[in-house]
Amino acid sequence: MLVVGGGIHGVGVAQAAAAAGHSVLLLERQGLAAGTSSRSSKLIHGGLRYLETADIPLVRESLRERELLLRLAPELVTRQRFFIPVYHYTSRRPWVIRTGLSLYAVLAGLGAKVRFRTVPRAEWGNLDGLTTEGLQAVFQYWDAQTDDVQLTRAVMRSAASLGARSLCPASFERASVGADACRVTYRYRDTDQVCEAKTIVNAAGPWATSLLERIDPTIPGLAVENVQGSHLELLGRVERGCYYMEVPFDRRAVFLIPWRDETALLGTTEHAFQGDPASVTPFPEEIDYLMTVYRHYFPGRPSDILDAWAGLRVLPGSQGKAFSRSRETQLPVDDPRQPRVVTIFGGKLTGYRATAQKVMRQLRKSLPVREPVADTRTLPLRAVD
Ligand SMILES: Cc1cc2nc3c(=O)[nH]c(=O)nc-3n(C[C@H](O)[C@H](O)[C@H](O)COP(=O)(O)OP(=O)(O)OC[C@H]3O[C@@H](n4cnc5c(N)ncnc54)[C@H](O)[C@@H]3O)c2cc1C
Repeated sequence: MLVVGGGIHGVGVAQAAAAAGHSVLLLERQGLAAGTSSRSSKLIHGGLRYLETADIPLVRESLRERELLLRLAPELVTRQRFFIPVYHYTSRRPWVIRTGLSLYAVLAGLGAKVRFRTVPRAEWGNLDGLTTEGLQAVFQYWDAQTDDVQLTRAVMRSAASLGARSLCPASFERASVGADACRVTYRYRDTDQVCEAKTIVNAAGPWATSLLERIDPTIPGLAVENVQGSHLELLGRVERGCYYMEVPFDRRAVFLIPWRDETALLGTTEHAFQGDPASVTPFPEEIDYLMTVYRHYFPGRPSDILDAWAGLRVLPGSQGKAFSRSRETQLPVDDPRQPRVVTIFGGKLTGYRATAQKVMRQLRKSLPVREPVADTRTLPLRAVD
């Protein structure tokens, strides 16, 4: 199997394929997690807000994967407190949030670690400088946090321990798909190299559509859009957990997340993007937007911006707001009767392992029968030094 892309999805597929006993080569053009997988909000979460769009299967799967990662990767994925403040002007009223959190806890299996609570008024003053003006209620629930780059490296190391090979920097150039196999040309150490693969997994993230154009015969892509999301790294430690804030003027969610020793992450935005994915960078209006929300809810905290970056979500193309579009992963194949090429559009860091299993199922008809050597549900993931 040839895998293009060393983001979380590419390494996840490499791990799943190697565990299933297949021979795998992964090509990464720039560096592991150089694309979207280093620019996420770094949350391993069920996606509380997807309950609003009734994406119950996605939430259930993400919660299951969250619990699995907490067990398999304790150095890399840790449980984190989340606070949702409700003000007199917040559009989602306390009963709505209570109902959502109850359903979230039920879908997570109702254990002690997934319960939520209402934070007593006496504790409001200890919430990292959150303004109490107009505050009516604060809810606290649990999700998890990771370092996306470290997680990607750890999954690749697990794949390599099962025999998967990776080349980096190595760039997929083109492929022709035949009746029995695919002939792939890639560039490594300034020369074109050729290999044969039974199947190709296009895990090139925001480059996935342009990659399809280099496969013969041409495979039609899906109608997808790259939508950029920006984060700011701010000076100042956040002690208690993550804050989930409703933006007063558009109802979107913005997070303030503890990060490194003395900093916090603030994100994210949704901004239409066109052009070369490698050039994505925050727009000044995105920085203004995030800082307006931050100063509104945390008026006394420092406002020093240490860093800013943007990443690209691959979302189904449509007229609606990006915030309410489905986050379900799409996995189209070139030919359902004899699939040789599968493309991963969209998806979440949290669900990478489940997505990789679905990719394996999509390609089953075209892969040789092999004896599995491991099960990704039980493989521990350790931080790479
Ligand atoms: C702003 C934002 C916040 C997010 N927050 C979260 C979150 O908190 N939790 C969560 O679960 N998910 C989150 N996500 C989603 C998650 O980050 C992505 O779904 C995931 O990182 C996508 O990984 P990927 O492997 O598909 O793509 P990428 O990480 O972009 O990897 C694609 C790779 O392909 C390589 N490549 C491209 N072309 C070639 C080629 N020709 N040859 C070789 N290599 C090539 C690129 O260099 C790149 O490394 C967020 C996404 C965004 C944009």
